Amino acid sequence: MLGGMQDWPLRVMRILDHAEREHGGREIVSLWADHSQTRTTYAGLARDARRLAAALTRLGLKRGDRVATLAMNHSRHMAAWYGAIGAGGVIHTINPRLFDEQLAYIANHAEDRVLFYDAAFAPIVERLKPQWRTIEHFVCFDAPAGEDGYEALIAGEADGFAWVEGDEREPCMLCYTSGTTGNPKGVLYEHRSTLLHALTEISPDVFNLSARSVALPIVPMFHAAAWGLPFATPLVGAKLVFSADYTPDLMCRLFAEEKVTHSAGVPTVWLAMIAHVEATGAELGALRHVTIGGSAAPRAMIEWFHARGIDVGHAWGMTEMSPIGTVGAPPSGWEEMSPADRLAYVCRQGRVPFGVELRIVDEDGQVLPRDGVASGRLQARGPWIVKQYFQDEGGPAAAADGWFDTGDVAILHPDGVMQITDRSKDVIKSGGEWISSIDLENAAVGCAGVAEAAAVGVYHPKWDERPLLLVVRKDGAEVTAEQILAHLAGHVAKWWLPDEILFVDSLPHTATGKLLKTALREQYRDYRLAGIAA
Ligand code: AMP
Repeated sequence: MLGGMQDWPLRVMRILDHAEREHGGREIVSLWADHSQTRTTYAGLARDARRLAAALTRLGLKRGDRVATLAMNHSRHMAAWYGAIGAGGVIHTINPRLFDEQLAYIANHAEDRVLFYDAAFAPIVERLKPQWRTIEHFVCFDAPAGEDGYEALIAGEADGFAWVEGDEREPCMLCYTSGTTGNPKGVLYEHRSTLLHALTEISPDVFNLSARSVALPIVPMFHAAAWGLPFATPLVGAKLVFSADYTPDLMCRLFAEEKVTHSAGVPTVWLAMIAHVEATGAELGALRHVTIGGSAAPRAMIEWFHARGIDVGHAWGMTEMSPIGTVGAPPSGWEEMSPADRLAYVCRQGRVPFGVELRIVDEDGQVLPRDGVASGRLQARGPWIVKQYFQDEGGPAAAADGWFDTGDVAILHPDGVMQITDRSKDVIKSGGEWISSIDLENAAVGCAGVAEAAAVGVYHPKWDERPLLLVVRKDGAEVTAEQILAHLAGHVAKWWLPDEILFVDSLPHTATGKLLKTALREQYRDYRLAGIAA
């Protein structure tokens, strides 16, 4: 027997329909690469998306066809998402910071038919055109007035396009993993998974968004769909502020002028922002909620925001999880907690929202207790977590019993808080015990004069591996290895202390701003610690 309620498929275009109808006048501000600024509204965005869907249909786009973007954050990029999805297509965001080889591979693998790109990335397009086998149409988002491009493409289209309807389990978006090892793999989000994920994101313990919010995602739209923000903000009619340029002084200007209340980004961008504010005394305006994720948020960073009365949501997730997995948001009893306890709480990756289930398992796949002690491989399941990579790449992503292995190593605490200890490939295995490279790095970044740090395991004849700490000093700082060791001694177990500290000018990062550990491991594979024979 079925129930008696209406059919209302959970399709993504309902998000935009709602925003247009209920929050049509709410603004979307874009700061472009040339620093000019434009403003539109949800109603304007919906109109452009309809015209764009009509244009794509005219170009021959069929249900399920992929439409790629190579672009930073702006309203036209967002209109292209909704336009492509509304035309029945699948929007595929490509990360322009990837290597040419990966850029060529991804577009061919996705079989993209149309590519929208920023003028800033025209050199990439020119270079790779001969290698991209399936792209038939190239559309520049910000072509000079009067030339072919986004404006010209949609200019002649009528406003009456009716969104393509269908099953809620149809795909709407394709995101590739960053592929630090091997080829990137595609994760095919569905209408239903995207909508459920967006509904979860607006909730207080995730992004805490409302009609009163003004959100500025510093995370690029090509990094796990800007963590879903372009789907979550229209649900509640939050104002959106986009910037194609993440230079801290521009961002601070936007924060102040647009009265931004919510922002989100990886630790690397916040590091630059904090350094700028410290150096210039710039104001953060009305900012009251930041989400930090993508890599572990350093304690010192969380403390910095707390000291300014800004809430921190420490988010853990993955492209494979749409991406939200957990958020370290204030728990019950927060008001009574001491500043130190609050800090310790938010440093962990937090709790799952409804819709995500987590467990940890040992090497043999045995489920481990949520006792705050056992550490194991973290596995997840839920409606917005990958089951199968696009084109069946590498077989099912989730095991037969439905759990997806995240590749992270974690502890689950009795209160449900999840604590990442490392990537399974990054843990330093010393004498059969595990040292968390993340904990070492975070502790090191808390030392005055340290801008960034990376811990890697290097060969040791007795212990197998011992930690080597690579440190980038802050501009003008003269911090010494002894000072860093003394600082670390107050934060980690004695046997975790790095055997050596090397000062370097810079550290390699992935295309999404994370430390590129694979490159560091490769570079220091044959490194011999002082006093150890080759
Ligand atoms: P990506 O799909 O590129 O966003 O990478 C996902 C991976 O980033 C996760 O599997 C984690 O290893 C790492 N990660 C994301 N957020 C956090 C966090 N808050 N703390 C520690 N690691 C994180």
